[in-house]
Amino acid sequence: MTTLSWAEPYKIKMVELIKMTSREDRLRAIREAGYNTFLLRSEDVYIDLLTDSGVGAMSDRQWAGIMMGDEAYAGSRNFYHLRDTVEEYYSYKYTVPCHQGRGAENILSQLLISPGDYVPGNMYFTTTRLHQELAGATFVDVIIDEAHDAESEHPFKGNVDFDKLDALLDEVGAEKIPYICIATCVNMAGGQPISLENLKRLRRWCDEHGIMFVHDMTRVAENAYFIQRRENGYQNKTIREIVYEICALSDAATMSSKKDAMVNIGGFLAMNDARFYERACALVVVYEGLHTYGGMAGRDMEALAIGITESVQDDHIHARVGQVLYLGRKIRAADIPIVNPIGGHAVFLNATKMLPHIPQEHFPAQALSAALYVESGVRSMERGIVSAGRDKATGKNHRPKLELVRLTIPRRVYTQAHMDVTANAVEEVVKRRDEIKGLRFTYEPEMLRFFQARFEQID
Ligand SMILES: *Cc1c(COP(=O)(O)O)cnc(C)c1O
Repeated sequence: MTTLSWAEPYKIKMVELIKMTSREDRLRAIREAGYNTFLLRSEDVYIDLLTDSGVGAMSDRQWAGIMMGDEAYAGSRNFYHLRDTVEEYYSYKYTVPCHQGRGAENILSQLLISPGDYVPGNMYFTTTRLHQELAGATFVDVIIDEAHDAESEHPFKGNVDFDKLDALLDEVGAEKIPYICIATCVNMAGGQPISLENLKRLRRWCDEHGIMFVHDMTRVAENAYFIQRRENGYQNKTIREIVYEICALSDAATMSSKKDAMVNIGGFLAMNDARFYERACALVVVYEGLHTYGGMAGRDMEALAIGITESVQDDHIHARVGQVLYLGRKIRAADIPIVNPIGGHAVFLNATKMLPHIPQEHFPAQALSAALYVESGVRSMERGIVSAGRDKATGKNHRPKLELVRLTIPRRVYTQAHMDVTANAVEEVVKRRDEIKGLRFTYEPEMLRFFQARFEQID
C-alpha cells in the first residue's frame, strides 16, 4: 500500500442520482428556508456537505449485516456482537447502546453531574455542552489557545492546556469537577487532533486528582490518523492499534456512531466501571430503550459492529482524510482563507476574513453558507456565532473567535470530481463576496438555535 495516494479502497456497486437545480430555484429555496441550510430540502441540494453525520455509505458487508438483524426486544445477538466489538477495538468493557451521540450525553450528564459542577473540555460541542448545562454544570474550555486561531499551524490543536486545567482546579476544587470530557479530532476547532502525549498526561492528571476521564470518541479514527502522521513513535503503528491505545487511556466514552463508524443512526455510552454501567442501564430504559438496544434496531447494531471494524482500517482512513485534504489544498491554492492545518472531516472556510464587511453580529458565516448554496447548490453549514448560542448566565451571545463555514465530507460518498466542483463553487462565491449581505434573526430557538433558526437579509 502506498501512503501517498488516497485512492479509494473500494468500488461503487450502487448509486443514487442527484441533479443540479437552477439559480432561481435555489434563491427561492434559501428564502423559504430562512437562510438556514438546515431548513433546505435535500432534493434542492446538489452536493451535500452539511454534515458527515449519518450520511456515510455503508459497505456491502454492513448491508448484509442489516439482513442479520435479530429484532428480539431483549438480548438481541447483535447487541452482544456490538458489545464484544466495542471491547475488542475500543477497550471499554461495558456498552450501553443509544439512539445517537446526544442520547449517550444525556445519560452521562444526568448520572455524573450535580448542580453547580464544572466540566472542563477541549472546546465545546453544541449538544455536549447543552446536556452538561441542562444537568446543572458549567462548561469550561481548557483547549490550547492555538485552537482558537485559524492561522496557527500547531499539529495538535486539540490538546489540553494544563495551566487552564490547573487554574480551574485551584478555583473550584476537585470535588466540583465530576469528569473531564475530551473529544478526539475536535469538531469545533476544525477537526483538529489531540496528541497521545497530551492524552497520557491527562490520564496522570486525572489519577492524581481523582477525576474521571470521559472520551467523546466520535472521530477517534481520524485522530489516530493524525497521530500516525505527526507524532513521534507512531509511524509504524496501525490505526487500529492507535485507536485502542487512545481509548484505553479513558474511563468512559460517548460515541456518535453516525460519524467514524459509518452507520446512518446509532451511538453508545461505554465504560469500564461495573457500578457506573449498572446506573447507566437503569437510566437508559427511561430515555432510550432497554439496555440491550437503547433506541437501536438489532440490524442497526449489526451494521455498527461491522462499521467499527471497517473504520479503523489504514487504507480506509487514508482515503477518508486524503479526500478532505485534497479539497482543502485545492481551496487554499486559490488563496481562500481556511482553518489550518486542514482537519480530518471537513474544510472550514474563514468567514471573518472572507467577508470583512459583515460584523460578527450580522452572522457572516451563516450568510456565506447561504450564498454558497445559491451560487452552486453545495450545502454547507455555519460554525460560528450562531452555533455558539448564548451564555446561560448572562443571556448574551457567545462570541467565538472562529467564524467558519464547514464543508463536511461524508464518508465514501462523493468523488474527486465532486471535490473539484466544490472548490470551484467556493471560488465563484468569493468573486461575488461584496454582494453578500448580513443577516438578522426572525426566529431564534432557545436551545441549539443553529438547527432551526430563521433569518432575513439586512439591506
Ligand atoms: C455529532 C457529535 C456529537 C453528537 O452526536 P449525535 O449523534 O449528533 O447526537 C457529539 N460530539 C461530537 C464531537 C459530535 O461530532
